[in-house]
Amino acid sequence: MTAIRAAAETLLDGGVQLDASGRGFVEMIARHADRLSRLTEDLLDLSRLESGEWKPALGPVHLSPFCGAMLELVRQRAADKGIVLGSDVPERLRAQADRRALEQILVNLLDNAVKFTPPGGRVTLLGDGLGPTVMLAVVDTGPGIEPRHQGRIFERFYRADAGRSRELGGTGLGLAIVKHLAQAMGGEAGVESSKNGSRFWVRLPTA
Ligand code: ADP
Repeated sequence: MTAIRAAAETLLDGGVQLDASGRGFVEMIARHADRLSRLTEDLLDLSRLESGEWKPALGPVHLSPFCGAMLELVRQRAADKGIVLGSDVPERLRAQADRRALEQILVNLLDNAVKFTPPGGRVTLLGDGLGPTVMLAVVDTGPGIEPRHQGRIFERFYRADAGRSRELGGTGLGLAIVKHLAQAMGGEAGVESSKNGSRFWVRLPTA
């Protein structure tokens, strides 16, 4: 996939004369190579998770600075779209988690929230301690998910709006990976949603 992408880029970056329609086709090749490589990576992640080949390396994670760093990763994309990012993660919260897995979970949820929320909306990362567990939630003011889809969006390849998801570059595997990662760390993941927006949450053991 990398080789296809590199070849397409070489064609686009000069060297070879392309007319408008030739250029259009090479751009199409580059776009689809990107999509295929995202899909391949997500599929590999899922199969490692499901086969038990991957085991989380659990340790205490101080959530407030960790969540701050995750927000930085989507800050530019949110700003470009005119979305306000916010967070409220109490200083005292610590989860027993695998840092890379937790990063993948939060980046997926924040990415989706920014992707599906229209310009002018708001995306907020919230933390809460609930007895022996901690809860992290990504709340958005997007279109929400209809009740009939809510039970299914954590399934692989399931999309509430397939056309729109594909257009936004989605593989339909992100939430399946989120759920598996949360469960592998002894936690769980879920969603509540209405037409005013969605709240995706993950619950993990307290450290
Ligand atoms: P992808 O985003 O690649 O399509 P995901 O597994 O991450 O796949 O999400 C599955 C589906 O859940 C999406 O296609 C979309 O229909 C829905 N979804 C996920 N996050 C949100 C959100 N924040 N707001 C509205 N719909 C969402």
